[in-house]
Amino acid sequence: MWLSIDTQEVKVSNIEVKGLEPTAEPETVIARDELLVIHRELDELRRDLNELSSDVANVVGELSNLGFRIKSFEGAWRSVHGKVRKLESVVSKETREGKKASLVIRLIGQWKSQVCKHARTGVCDAWRLGSDVVKEIKELFGAESIKDVDGELRIVPTKVPHLCALCPLFKLSKE
Ligand code: SF4
Repeated sequence: MWLSIDTQEVKVSNIEVKGLEPTAEPETVIARDELLVIHRELDELRRDLNELSSDVANVVGELSNLGFRIKSFEGAWRSVHGKVRKLESVVSKETREGKKASLVIRLIGQWKSQVCKHARTGVCDAWRLGSDVVKEIKELFGAESIKDVDGELRIVPTKVPHLCALCPLFKLSKE
């Protein structure tokens, strides 16, 4: 199969130049002008392909940069996530230790609040409380942890055993 634009007309398929070897009816005849049009269209197609190739190269480059940024982000995220997990572990451990200490203090305080001679009436007569402390104690131990006795605000030791546990005024009741 061949094509030539030197002839007036050529045939694709049986490859026959019209007028020279009229041995068979041409299946498809392409005029020289048509060949020039095809040539121009192929040239445009080649240019389009070059542009497309360039665009693809740009997109690949962008994706590569984006991939790098994603990897960086993932690395930073893993680092932060690891630190958060570590912090959670420390806080959890500290919380556990805090609970243990609180339990021991509460047990000791409960015993002292029942045997201290200052708690015989159900309120501690050794401590006088300022209003700022009262507010804080109520927030932590509840409103029933404080009683007004004759205009004096007193602690109910059984409700605030932590104070008894650490109290320097503790006196063992003889009775
Ligand atoms: S231990 Fe301290 S706080 Fe508790 S009842 Fe005795 S004096 Fe009051």
